[in-house]
Amino acid sequence: MSWEVIIGLEIHVQINTKTKAFCGCSTTFGAEPNTQTCPVCLGMPGQLPVLNSEAVQKSILTGLAICGQINLASKFDRKNYFYPDLPKGYQITQFAVPLVEHGHIDIRVGDTEKRIGITRIHMEEDAGKSMHEGLDGVSHIDLNRSGVPLMEIVSEPDMRSADEAIAYLKQLHQLVRFLDVSGANMEKGQFRCDANVSVHQPGTPFGTRAELKNLNSFRFIRQAIDYEVNRQIELIEDGGEVVQETRLYDSAKGESRAMRSKEEAHDYRYFPEPDLPPLQVSEQEVASIRAAMPERPSQLRQRFENEYGLSAYDADVLSQTRELADYFEALVACHETDSKRCANWMANELLGRLKEQGCEIDHSPVTPRALAGLLDRIADDTISGKIAKDVLDAMVEGGESADAIIETKGLKQVTDSGTIDAIIDKIIAANPNQVAQYRGGKDKLFGFFVGQVMKASRGKANPAMVNQRLKNLLAGM
Ligand code: ADP
Ligand code: MG
Ligand code: ZN
Repeated sequence: MSWEVIIGLEIHVQINTKTKAFCGCSTTFGAEPNTQTCPVCLGMPGQLPVLNSEAVQKSILTGLAICGQINLASKFDRKNYFYPDLPKGYQITQFAVPLVEHGHIDIRVGDTEKRIGITRIHMEEDAGKSMHEGLDGVSHIDLNRSGVPLMEIVSEPDMRSADEAIAYLKQLHQLVRFLDVSGANMEKGQFRCDANVSVHQPGTPFGTRAELKNLNSFRFIRQAIDYEVNRQIELIEDGGEVVQETRLYDSAKGESRAMRSKEEAHDYRYFPEPDLPPLQVSEQEVASIRAAMPERPSQLRQRFENEYGLSAYDADVLSQTRELADYFEALVACHETDSKRCANWMANELLGRLKEQGCEIDHSPVTPRALAGLLDRIADDTISGKIAKDVLDAMVEGGESADAIIETKGLKQVTDSGTIDAIIDKIIAANPNQVAQYRGGKDKLFGFFVGQVMKASRGKANPAMVNQRLKNLLAGM
């Protein structure tokens, strides 16, 4: 039987405001537990929430960036449930009328572009955190996170594979970082994903879905989806039925288990939040947020291709983060002669070396100006591309300039034909058999001679000159 996979994602994005959604407490991550709290976010009775307007603006910006419709009048509701990390007994969220609806994002998997619908983005507040580890059988509650502003971004069930789900997630992850609306650090819980997964036979109605909770890395999301798809297919093929439930994925075991069935958990008794007025935004406010929209990843990629002539691949690599893009543009500004060379050396050489050192581009020991200094020495034939790779190694290690390394290590390229001829003469004298074979018509041996000469010059001979002089001297000229 051929099964089709249906996936819809709900993503919680912490908005990177300085203060919480409804009070003035700090949102800084990693503080001593319960030091960033006040009567409002502790859920004390009679405390009135006041909406953080920056959180609204950042949600609108996100809504505009996904081509969504901004609802000028939206409202807040209470979602009631009991959990120790939720002292109020309800979460303030937008249920009936969200701030944003009907957006989309275009993803690419392989060579195929596809549009994924975004049903809604609503604003809500985060809950606190329960801590169990190393506490000897008791649990502690940290309410620093209680009241941190969130956007929940809900997709249509438009994805058909784990690959598409990951592409969508990465695209959104990149977008919120470019917009500077979230740090989106998954390890810090700033970007969290729940995946809804079902299977069905094409042409029949969608199957019943299971919801996989709180997947905190791209790798685990993929694993959890794959596991869930197999589980459902096996279950149905064995004559069973998928039940609608929430499941927790255990990344250590590589399997998921049922957490709760949706029926009993779903009775949240939403009702309008009486302590907050309806959320009104004006056309002008939306227009001014739109006017100040930063460059988006898709625009940047396009610009890199058009303006600098980069390949789609290089443009993609160098536009992954704003920091990478900024480094590249600073590099091109210093080495204007050849933007493709800049892209090559940054994407293929520098980034690999930084990755080995676990170093991010904004902490690179080699600045754009320093890398440009190296590329200048390739451009003016002081060193070959091959030697330049060794120089870059030394630059990443020691932070010295290319010129200093070339000077102290004596790496300057040999372009003097007298010196090159002398090396060639020695190689010819040392390899009479190969010379005879070459002269007898075995052209393939030419590469052997080039290799010998380059080796004898310790890579410093100018390759173009070696080629030219070798041809002449081997021909006996
Ligand atoms: P709930 O209110 O129970 O969370 P929603 O209707 O809001 O349900 O849907 C939640 C998510 O589930 C959405 O992202 C949606 O795209 C996805 N979804 C809905 N139906 C299916 C299905 N049959 N298979 C997979 N995902 C689905
Ligand atoms: Mg939901
Ligand atoms: Zn507070």
